[in-house]
Order: sequence, then structure tokens, then C-alpha cells
Amino acid sequence: MPTTRTDSVDADAVRELFEHRYGRAPDVVASAPGRVNLIGEHTDYNGGEVLPIAIARRTWVAVSADRAARSSLLRAVSSNETNVGEAQLEPPKRSERWWDYLTGVAAPLVAAPLGGKAPRPVAIDAAVVSDVPAGAGLSSSAALEVATALAVSTALGETLPLREAAMVAWRAETEFVGVACGIMDQFASALAREAHALHLNCDTIETDDAPFRDAVLIIDSAVRRSLRHSEFNQRRAECERALELLQQRWPALRNLAEATPEQVAEANLPDPLGRRAMHVSRETRRVREAVAMLDAGEPLSGKLLLESHESLRDLYECSRPELDWLVERSIAEPGVRGARLTGAGWGGCIIAVGSEDALNAAAPAIQRDYVAKFGLTPRLWLSKAARGAAVEAR
Ligand code: ADP
Ligand code: MG
Repeated sequence: MPTTRTDSVDADAVRELFEHRYGRAPDVVASAPGRVNLIGEHTDYNGGEVLPIAIARRTWVAVSADRAARSSLLRAVSSNETNVGEAQLEPPKRSERWWDYLTGVAAPLVAAPLGGKAPRPVAIDAAVVSDVPAGAGLSSSAALEVATALAVSTALGETLPLREAAMVAWRAETEFVGVACGIMDQFASALAREAHALHLNCDTIETDDAPFRDAVLIIDSAVRRSLRHSEFNQRRAECERALELLQQRWPALRNLAEATPEQVAEANLPDPLGRRAMHVSRETRRVREAVAMLDAGEPLSGKLLLESHESLRDLYECSRPELDWLVERSIAEPGVRGARLTGAGWGGCIIAVGSEDALNAAAPAIQRDYVAKFGLTPRLWLSKAARGAAVEAR
């Protein structure tokens, strides 16, 4: 049976780790969830829309801030890592290690407190516990960054709005850690609400909530994503080229997602640019359709999910036989309404959507058949739309 969450990972656990490590109580505990995207894939960097939920797995960060320190230094410990981190914050020093995510978030908060007070040295001690699986595409990095942003800012006596926390987290990941990700992960982790999906326009950064009461079964295919980086960069370049060609005809187009399917068809772009552009154009419109359904109190349509998957498979060409098989196998189970690849593709996860009972009942057979067919051991997680980031205690 897929696990929903790990009960031992909570505010008490992170407080205990902090006290064990530093010999005193933390000033603040904050937490932030991982996320999974329901629909809207490869739309984020094309100015389109996405629809993630926060999952019921979280990262908890406990922090203290010592203002009597002589230099701004970060110390960090994580229950998921054997190495303890130590890093200079002013100027921030990169280590290429796991605590870079904390350094990248804490450094700007320490250097420029929101209240505009003159910067002075602050030593930050941090402890981390988490049940978000790392590297599985559920955005453990964003969960860590967002929880750190809330904990550190609160320890510094500031109230960081959740949107600001998302932006600090996103800048840390893109500018400090150096991963060129879109804004979805940090926004979902910071702003998603329980029993709702977060509808995010990646061009305007406007957000709204859509009620989402189904459960989601997340299946990690365990396929090595060796091609992922080069193929991903190639898709980005193809999208840029497709936009240039479309703009020659429609100069007012601001991004690829804005182009309508009719415009893309009319432009008759060379292959594969036409297919890439058509995916982006239709996928962003599928997000709008999904939101309209959810807002009307209807469940997320399985047809829409499957159309999204087929488009990723045939037009964007970022699926894999293992992912296609998992989607087909999942929707063959009673009560599973729809399924699709989620995340960038070329490996990674699929989601199946339906009632919690149906997904729980379907999971063992899908798992067993996948192992038999591909000799790979998938990991499965079941979640409903969970709450976003929060300061838990101070
Ligand atoms: P994803 O965000 O999909 O899980 P990433 O590669 O973006 O994968 O981020 C995973 C990295 O984030 C880990 O290798 C580790 O460096 C860091 N990380 C995430 N969660 C934790 C944690 N609880 N403790 C320490 N480091 C973590
Ligand atoms: Mg990540």
C-alpha cells in the first residue's frame, strides 16, 4: 500500500534534532511541502499556466538567530544527510553541498532585513527533517528553501509574505545553487492550500485556487533520466525558435503559450517546431479548462489528463515507454479517472487521479505488474492536496 505520510516527521522531530545538535531550543520552526503538478507541463518557461498541488510530505526547518555573533555564519544539520554544514553568509560561500539551499536563502535575508535596518552580523543555526523524497521530482529543494525562508525571516523578527518567501527561495535555487528552474515549485510549496490546486500564470505570476478533493497516486518510474538535461535544453531552444517564427507573423505575441492553436496551425512551422508549439499552446488551454471544471465543482476530467499525456508523448516527445505503460496500466484500474506524465519527463513520475480508496486498491497491482514488465522497482506515494508553507511555532 502506498504511504501517505511519515508521522515521525514533524515539529517535535525537528526541535529535537536542533536541541540535540546545538544544546538549546530553536527560536522558530517552519515547514513547507513538496508538490506535484496536475496539468500544464512544459508551459512554465513558455509563459503559460500550471496547476500544482502541495503534497502531504513536508520539510521542517528549525532555526535560531544569534545577533551577538561576530560574523554571519550558517550552521546546518539534516536528518537526511550525514554531513553537517557550515558556511559564511556575508558574502555567501557556495559549497556544492546540500546546505547551499539554506545558504542561498539565508544570505539575502541576513544581508538586507526587510525592515531596512542596517545589516549586522547574525549567526544562523538550522536543523532540517523531511519526508519529501529528494531527487524524485517532488521538489524537495523548493520545500527546503521555502521552509528555510520562513524560519530565518521569522527568527530575524520579520514577517515575510508567502509570495516573498517563494521569490527568495526561487532566487536561491536559480542564482545561488544554479539550477535554472521555473517559479512553479517554490510558488506551489509556499502558496498552495489544503483541498485546492494552485492555478499559476507563469508570465504574470498571478495565482488563484481551484478546489481539488481527489487523491493523487504518484508513481516514480525509477527510470534513469540520463538524457534529461540535453533533451530539455533542446526543447527550450526549439520553443524559442518557434516563438521567433510566430512573432515574424504576429509581432505582438509575448510568449509561446499565448499563441492560439489556430495561429500555430496557420503558421505551418517546420517539424518538430510546429509540434512543440502546438503542445505548449494546447496544454496551457487545458490548464484553463481544468480550472473551469474544478471551479464549477466538477472533478478533474480523465480525458483532459490523457490528452495532456498524449501530447507530451507525441508532440513534445518527452515521454518514455515505461511512463506510457504506467499511464495505460493505471487507467485500466477501476476508479482511476485519469493519468499522465508529470514533471519534465524522460523518466521520473506519472500521476493517477481518482478517489483515495480506488487509488489505494489499484496501487499494488500496478506496482507488481511494472516490476514484472520492466524489472524496475517503482516508488508510490498517495496524497491529497495538502496545505502550503507555514511558520509552525516560535
Ligand atoms: P527535487 O527537488 O526534485 O527533490 P533536487 O535535485 O532539485 O530534486 O533537490 C534535491 C537536493 O536538495 C538534494 O540532493 C539535497 O541537496 C537537497 N535537499 C532536499 N531536501 C533535503 C533535506 N531534507 N536535507 C538536506 N538536503 C536536502
Ligand atoms: Mg528541485
